[in-house]
Amino acid sequence: MIQEIDNKLCPQSVCTGCFACKQVCAKGAVHLKEDKGFSYPVIDASLCVDCGLCTKVCPVLNPRVTVDEHKGRTLSYAIWNNNLKERMNSSSGGTFSALADKAIKEGGIVYGAAWNEAMQLRHIGVEDPHSLEALRRSKYVQSNTDGVFKNAKLQLKSGRVVLFCGTPCQIAGLLSFLGNKDNPNLITVGVVCHGVPSQRSFDKYIHEIEEEKSVKIFDCNFRSKKRGWRTGLNLILYTKTADNKVIAIDKLLSDNVYMNAFLKQFFLRESCYNCPFKEENNGYYADIMLSDAWSLWEALPWGQVDFGKGVSSVIANTEKGYKFLKSCFEEITVIERPYAEYASNSGLRKAHKPSNNDTAFEYLKTHSWLETQSKFFPLTLRQKIPLVTRLIIGENYSILFKKIIKQIFRR
Ligand SMILES: Cc1cc2nc3c(=O)[nH]c(=O)nc-3n(C[C@H](O)[C@H](O)[C@H](O)COP(=O)(O)OP(=O)(O)OC[C@H]3O[C@@H](n4cnc5c(N)ncnc54)[C@H](O)[C@@H]3O)c2cc1C
Repeated sequence: MIQEIDNKLCPQSVCTGCFACKQVCAKGAVHLKEDKGFSYPVIDASLCVDCGLCTKVCPVLNPRVTVDEHKGRTLSYAIWNNNLKERMNSSSGGTFSALADKAIKEGGIVYGAAWNEAMQLRHIGVEDPHSLEALRRSKYVQSNTDGVFKNAKLQLKSGRVVLFCGTPCQIAGLLSFLGNKDNPNLITVGVVCHGVPSQRSFDKYIHEIEEEKSVKIFDCNFRSKKRGWRTGLNLILYTKTADNKVIAIDKLLSDNVYMNAFLKQFFLRESCYNCPFKEENNGYYADIMLSDAWSLWEALPWGQVDFGKGVSSVIANTEKGYKFLKSCFEEITVIERPYAEYASNSGLRKAHKPSNNDTAFEYLKTHSWLETQSKFFPLTLRQKIPLVTRLIIGENYSILFKKIIKQIFRR
């Protein structure tokens, strides 16, 4: 049992879990404790020498005024990767992959979120293009960045290019850890994020399926494009047979309890409901921001971008970010779009905490995911109808259908 020092680190309700405080402590005095499956730092009184570094490095306690070099911008970019395989294996347009490929070509190292063998999400560094597959795709679990900021600092010191991709709070943590000094070799790429669920709730979900089917899950695609890009409720889990054949376990509609909870903003980290790193707070510190170009379908002629394969909506916050993005233009297709299109993304606003979220969290401890879903967040007909339409008539026809309906009601 460690003796904790109180009231030094930022309060649990706003701690984003970036681990900058843990990584900066040379005495190893910052430990982690768990609550609802999320890790929170605590100071061990027996090791603390009261140097104050842990509080100085906290990006929540020390918010900074961002220098948005593109303030007053009117443009965003709709982007997709020209490499079809990379695009299809990504969550939106595969823009991250094009940026990561470029950083690796420059001799750099790319940090992003990947599963380990136990399906725990960690940030790892990757130095060859083949290993990038592990980083691709949005994983809807909080990724652990412990140790990563320290490594990135050493690599930057040795003059290497470092591309770090993560949530805005992780980027704020990294920049704070690096002293908020501009480093020409560091490219930060943020994903627009409405919130992260806990590793523990995901573990329980995986465990239930493993038990039910007597299998071991080794990978998960939360955003499969198998049935089109906007089938946000299509999650696929992967397992292997004894002779190493990969089997996909398809989770769709009512069966996809985990994504249903995530889309309804259940089980997120407490700080996500009060995120200080939202665009609306001018808190996005990344050089480049990536998001899903959900609203693009309304503006473009039908079929123009093959929407069903995924498109990213991207902005550059800094000149460095813009130059880096531009250096990838041969690998990607870029369409200039109004900034308002990017800004309309609901992920730029704070997550809304369901009033019964805490009760549901408690309930999930002793009940199955399915039982918790039917009691707290049942799948509604309003969710099912558009999804079923897309599944039956296909992504592009469903866009055409939606456009026709919009036209009829406009008259
Ligand atoms: C938790 C989460 C919530 C999101 N919410 C929204 C939203 O509300 N609206 C929206 O438009 N877009 C959201 N996104 C971003 C979107 O899903 C795509 O990731 C983004 O458009 C980039 O897609 P891509 O095809 O370029 O790259 P991809 O290949 O899909 O992946 C991009 C990068 O995301 C990183 N990443 C994946 N999971 C995590 C994680 N858990 N923590 C930190 N980094 C991670 C990977 O390391 C990879 O580097 C969210 C992403 C995450 C991870």
